Amino acid sequence: MEYIEPSPFLAAWHQAMIIGAIIMIAAGILIYLVYNLRLSSIKSLHARYDFINTKEIENYKLVFYCFGIAAALIINRYGMDKLKDVEVWFFARLIIAIAGGTLVGYVGYLVLEYYYPSVVHKKLLKCRYTPRVASNGAKMRLLSEEEEDVHLDLGMQAEENIFSIDYDVWIEEKSGEVKIEKYAGHLQALQCNSCGFYTMKVLREEVTKPATPEGPGELVKYYQCSYCKSNRATAYNISNKQSADDYRHQKYKFKSNNDVDSVKIEVHSTIKGKKHYEFQNVEEAQRFLSEFDFDKS
Ligand SMILES: [Zn+2]
Repeated sequence: MEYIEPSPFLAAWHQAMIIGAIIMIAAGILIYLVYNLRLSSIKSLHARYDFINTKEIENYKLVFYCFGIAAALIINRYGMDKLKDVEVWFFARLIIAIAGGTLVGYVGYLVLEYYYPSVVHKKLLKCRYTPRVASNGAKMRLLSEEEEDVHLDLGMQAEENIFSIDYDVWIEEKSGEVKIEKYAGHLQALQCNSCGFYTMKVLREEVTKPATPEGPGELVKYYQCSYCKSNRATAYNISNKQSADDYRHQKYKFKSNNDVDSVKIEVHSTIKGKKHYEFQNVEEAQRFLSEFDFDKS
């Protein structure tokens, strides 16, 4: 096969494509590394939670877009040895390159938009429920009874676009040290009951009963899944507590195990069918099992 000398424009074009591709791949890797470096420099678990929640998917999408552009540039070198001048193949290849690059970017987008939130969700749970350490070095414990309560900052209830806050209250029993962490509940994606993806987000919220000093109010969160578009509405209590002091002076109920939300037990009997039981923690479930008698229960 004889060697074909390409036109000066084509020679420059093909060189620009490979240089561009290298730059885009490097940019993608750099975005990935910088993101992870910034994440590892954040020591506070609460700050890590916010950082992962708002930045991880956004950054990884950028990485895929860079790789998509790199793919488009590389495709533009396909068959370059046989090309002498700008002709039909040049333009056909250009269109294929744009399509190929878009495909890479789009596949990355789909993965990060619909599959990856379940991975993020696990990371967020870890950040949120790893026991905090008090200033005396002791492990703090998370108050359980506030779990389901949401808070509204003063003045927020008057606004139209309210977004409630989830408060996690950590306490060290001996010193009475209290640490309160606020989480913007509407930013985190939850699992959709219909499609199973972690793509359920708060669409809007409505105060159905304002909180008063005498008792908690009620707030309804309207969720929508960004994948299957199914809707859900859940009512939450609005806490009437405003400061750390409110928590310091109450009787505490602790979660015995920070990872366990509830324990479900299903007991099967060949003769009498099955029975379901639900417990708040492992200890309650164990006590129940040690005393369990199918006929008496
Ligand atoms: Zn869904």
